[in-house]
Amino acid sequence: MNAPNQSGWKPGTPVQDHNAMSGPDTVTGNRALMLEEPLLFEIGHVETTGVDLPEPSGATTRLGGMERAAAIGLPGLSEPETVRHYTRLSRQNYAIDLGLFPLGSCTMKHNPRLNEKVARMPGFADVHPLQPVQTVPGALEVINELAHWLIELTGMHGVAMSPKAGAHGELCGILCIRAALEARGDARKVVLVPESAHGTNPATAAFAGYEVEDIPATPEGRVDLEALKARLGPDVAAVMITNPNTCGLFERDMKAISDAVHAAGGFVYCDGANFNAIVGKVRPGDLGVDAMHINLHKTFSTPHGGGGPGSGPVVLSEALSPFGPLPFTARTTDGVVHLVEEENAADYGHVQAFGRMTAFHGQMGMFTRALTYILSHGADGLKQVAEDAVLNANYILRSLEDVLDAPFGPSGPCMHEALFSDDGFAEGLSTLDLAKALIDEGYHPMTMYFPLVVHGAMLVEPTETESKAALDQFIMALRSVAERAKAGDETMKTAPHYAPRRRLDETQAARKPVLAWNDPNMA
Ligand SMILES: *Cc1c(COP(=O)(O)O)cnc(C)c1O
Repeated sequence: MNAPNQSGWKPGTPVQDHNAMSGPDTVTGNRALMLEEPLLFEIGHVETTGVDLPEPSGATTRLGGMERAAAIGLPGLSEPETVRHYTRLSRQNYAIDLGLFPLGSCTMKHNPRLNEKVARMPGFADVHPLQPVQTVPGALEVINELAHWLIELTGMHGVAMSPKAGAHGELCGILCIRAALEARGDARKVVLVPESAHGTNPATAAFAGYEVEDIPATPEGRVDLEALKARLGPDVAAVMITNPNTCGLFERDMKAISDAVHAAGGFVYCDGANFNAIVGKVRPGDLGVDAMHINLHKTFSTPHGGGGPGSGPVVLSEALSPFGPLPFTARTTDGVVHLVEEENAADYGHVQAFGRMTAFHGQMGMFTRALTYILSHGADGLKQVAEDAVLNANYILRSLEDVLDAPFGPSGPCMHEALFSDDGFAEGLSTLDLAKALIDEGYHPMTMYFPLVVHGAMLVEPTETESKAALDQFIMALRSVAERAKAGDETMKTAPHYAPRRRLDETQAARKPVLAWNDPNMA
């Protein structure tokens, strides 16, 4: 059973160079409380199961000769083995419950436990999407109430609740725009996307069948309004703009951009993933936005990344609302919230829906959490969220700009994220080396090499849920690795030195991913 395994580690052999935490090798491969863990297939055995059932006797098959002839080779493990496997793996990872997560644009903030408590209430947690609709009036109330607050906070006209992530919401918004253009017989082909856009924006436009064209950024990191205006014309379906943008800056010309796009017959899509920087302060509807997704898993604190699914409702302007997808909820004059589906859409005058985004109604667990977050903060609390997120980011920007180049630092305060570049690093050391060294200091790295408009970019988003003490410790860590990068500390090139794994071949992993386990004994 001691076949070399595909996690790179052979049971019972000392761990080699891939886990080079300094010190002598151990026979188990474990390093004190950090336990090595092979793949589930390598520790489980076909002949083992977590439960003991007596062999069935006298049972006759009804599969008519289609029964399985050989073992399917799934690993069998007992309950404690299974629990330990996943617990050990989880300890090799980083999590928002372990420490500050500076990943810019991802808004990794604390997930309040109150949200979890409410989401676990049986009346919410145990509903099934195929349950008769008259048995779930409470769930419909929650969806409708959240929809109301999203419309209220954004100053928009309608909202599609079903998209399951930001990128899914972008697709929903662009499909609304396409439906609106088709309804007026307008075959526009081009979507304009500024250089500072999130990568999902051009991907969405291309996926929806549009040609994507870049709009340059100004030296201050904002959309070049004149270049945008010059490109507008009868072939432009929409402009997709992130605001605040991925340089961490507010697009001050947003209203002028919207007015110009509308005058040219196009629509304005706003990527609202960074809404946490402006919630309670600015209503995108007032800026002329036609569609904007909201990442409940960012702005409204629902768990994401390894911790949970996304949810990306899309708020829509009056011009786009008639094209919004089914289903949605509506409160009738009798005060009851109804679910509007294909069969009753005409009763609600909603006959131009472009279709559906999902089989069911969206991410119910995230709706419950997001509504809990909104109601527990209240209007004043949400405004403070934005203020504190911006304050924290500016604290980081100003505390580090003497050691790290901040390309847009001189042009004023940032929004909720601080952007640095690798300018000034010693020859041969890169943003990647700094990020790896930061892992040794116990932090998940910041977003790297994004946005593309800045060389060796490092985008830090602390969020509003970090205390000053936590920010000070992070600043100390980042300051020290920045100083080492400037001084040319060669040991950074082989960092991380203390992580369970060191430098993995990321290119190889992306080009030739090994996604299936092959039993070495069967080869
Ligand atoms: C996170 C993010 C997205 C995509 O959202 P997902 O939920 O990950 O699909 C789009 N744009 C920006 C600016 C983002 O930060």
